Amino acid sequence: MKGVCLICEKRREGIPINEGPVIKTIRAVKRAFGIAKGTTLVICPECWEEYNKRRAGFEKSILIWTIIGIIIALALIVPPILFGDWNVFNIFRNIVMSIILIAVLLALIGLVRYIPKTTMTLEEYEGKGKAKGKAVGKKIRETTKRKAKKSSRKKKR
Ligand SMILES: [Zn+2]
Repeated sequence: MKGVCLICEKRREGIPINEGPVIKTIRAVKRAFGIAKGTTLVICPECWEEYNKRRAGFEKSILIWTIIGIIIALALIVPPILFGDWNVFNIFRNIVMSIILIAVLLALIGLVRYIPKTTMTLEEYEGKGKAKGKAVGKKIRETTKRKAKKSSRKKKR
């Protein structure tokens, strides 16, 4: 699929990314501001390795920040209970605050370094390319045959 590579930002043939809710939201926001380019985002094969590194980093940071968020949430919720604050309102308030905190944390990471999933892996993409490659290979074989015929004709002369 032709599109703009997410990593090198060049117009390239590449693996289309999975347009999840985050990309759709970003697009909707861009459309609202009139700055949507309507481009298809892809990962070109040359950038696949770099993409995988960034995607792994992104998944890791989401995991780490989720854990940090949960620890902060527990720190907010548990100690008051341990110290005998059984006020339901306070407990409820702390839970809501924690949820908002985690959501804000994850949203921030998502905005700063969001790396979406691709619709397929490089192997699958190259597998498709191979099906195309067969057709190309056939063409090459045909032209070499033609060339061979030509040269054999030359020899006869
Ligand atoms: Zn690229």
